[in-house]
Amino acid sequence: MTDTSNGDAGVGGMPPACDAILALGTNIGNRIENIDEAIRRLSAGDEVEIVARSRLYRTAPWGDVDQDWFVNGCVAVRTKLSPHALLKHCQAVENAMGRVRTRHWGPRVIDVDILTIGDRQIREPDLVVPHPLIAERGFVLIPLRDVAPDLTLGGKSIDMMLSALDVRDVVPMAP
Ligand code: ADP
Ligand code: MG
Repeated sequence: MTDTSNGDAGVGGMPPACDAILALGTNIGNRIENIDEAIRRLSAGDEVEIVARSRLYRTAPWGDVDQDWFVNGCVAVRTKLSPHALLKHCQAVENAMGRVRTRHWGPRVIDVDILTIGDRQIREPDLVVPHPLIAERGFVLIPLRDVAPDLTLGGKSIDMMLSALDVRDVVPMAP
């Protein structure tokens, strides 16, 4: 098991009172309602408390581009759940909302990914934290900047990571 905390090579600049940051995405049905519903479900019990919410963004599909546009956002949460319990909690919300896994990176009613958990580094078959694709995805970095503008990953700020990307397809939606 690999689970270490390493402030130098790892994550810095998390917002105060925040234990983890989750990314949400959806490209089926009423996307704004799907995000709201996922956030309601994530925080319905006493396991997870939402401490900050990003704006929502209309984004172009990534990876498998032959599908409809997405809405993406992020939430910062406080939780006492272990990393794997938090993953299960996120997957339970996906399943309760009727997510059916079809093709990899395919259409989904809701995707809830764990971006960071404090400054922890986790490399397990079913859980990698920080999420390995954060630096490549404008649709993750831009909402992440809303909730954690000072966050660094491996010594790089969000703006440094964004400077390598074309993010014209990540457009803020009206509040
Ligand atoms: P994707 O999010 O890449 O579109 P899925 O949501 O279907 O794909 O997730 C595939 C698997 O990724 C999950 O079964 C989960 O175990 C694994 N996984 C690894 N790291 C993470 C993470 N940080 N957050 C969410 N899922 C993760
Ligand atoms: Mg996922």
